[in-house]
Amino acid sequence: MNSRLAVEGGTPVRPTMLPYGRQVIDDDDVAAVAEVLQSDWLTTGPVVAEFEQAFAARTSARHAVAVSSGTAALHTAVFAAGIGPGDEVIVPAMTFAASANCVRYQGGTVVFADVRPDTLNLDPAAVEPLITQRTRAIIAVDYSGQPADLDELSTLCRARDITLIEDAAHALGATYRGRTVGSIVHLTTFSLHPVKHITTGEGGMVTTNDPALDARLRAFRNHGITTDHRQRSVAGSWFYEMVELGFNYRLTDIQCALGLSQLTKLDRWLERRRAIAARYATGFAGVPEVDSITVQTDRVPVWHLYPIRLGLERLRVGRAEVFKALRAENIGVNVHYIPVPWHPYYQKLGYTKGQWPVAEDAYERLISLPMFHAMTDADADDVINAVCKVVAHYRK
Ligand SMILES: *Cc1c(COP(=O)(O)O)cnc(C)c1O
Repeated sequence: MNSRLAVEGGTPVRPTMLPYGRQVIDDDDVAAVAEVLQSDWLTTGPVVAEFEQAFAARTSARHAVAVSSGTAALHTAVFAAGIGPGDEVIVPAMTFAASANCVRYQGGTVVFADVRPDTLNLDPAAVEPLITQRTRAIIAVDYSGQPADLDELSTLCRARDITLIEDAAHALGATYRGRTVGSIVHLTTFSLHPVKHITTGEGGMVTTNDPALDARLRAFRNHGITTDHRQRSVAGSWFYEMVELGFNYRLTDIQCALGLSQLTKLDRWLERRRAIAARYATGFAGVPEVDSITVQTDRVPVWHLYPIRLGLERLRVGRAEVFKALRAENIGVNVHYIPVPWHPYYQKLGYTKGQWPVAEDAYERLISLPMFHAMTDADADDVINAVCKVVAHYRK
């Protein structure tokens, strides 16, 4: 193998760019969408309920409510939890901005907590001292697809009547102590964006076991109106009441047809992601500069991302140079995530850097490797070879 780095004029490990994530759309997905396009209902029709029921069944939840994005799912969940001005919500510093923004949409205050060094999930020991009289909810994120410490967080919530929301955008199909993500906490949110495990283009879902929360979720995604167009059509009635200030966050039947078709492939795809993760773990076992996420034995992750942390102490360069060198090798690496309170919007609100040492140190080292179900073993080996080539070159 050519050991000269592509970034220094050598031959890249592979001739074409391998993306970090990408969807698969089969002919049967296309046929399912085409069928709905020629039916009576493009939105608020029967396929929405069908998708919701199938999603609830797969996540062992009593109720699933389809919405227009993962971000809409978070906003809808925060509304259902009753968050408003003056309420504090604890959110991990290491996540996508939407996990925190949803609190701001309802006028609440975000309190960022640090994460555990081994999993980069919300650290219950960091959460407890942040709880005040005003804490109304905790949003736990299942970073990279491994469920957070849900029992420990539930215990903190139960004693104080706090709602636990799980941002499971990374974790569709994951299990925690034998239970399926979606059925464990008060409210769980999912994303159906193309880089996630299954897709509807844009889309999201909220699951709950609580019928009262289910009713609030359904009203909020439909302007705060208590019946939808189809229910009125069936009842032959024109009357409706808007009881809360909601949004139009509906997911169309067209999208739900795609989601239903994709859902039938989920288990096969998750198996494939686990096989790629296992291949990476073996490939990096003897590379001390590469530190993968620790998998806890009581949960089964689903690998939305495969993040590694670089042992910068052993390298002559920083993360930026390694990142650039991997891109030059045609490995579509990414970084998840910049700590949310570091973004200018949150800096302007007065959050100062340096309060989340684990998340902030991880950010300087993190690189997400390509991870999607259509990757071949040869693609995964290209990634391993490129990482080993670049790390060996920059080793002290
Ligand atoms: C993808 C993602 C979201 C937002 O989902 P969209 O469907 O893109 O709105 C929220 N939280 C996390 C952790 C995500 O990864």
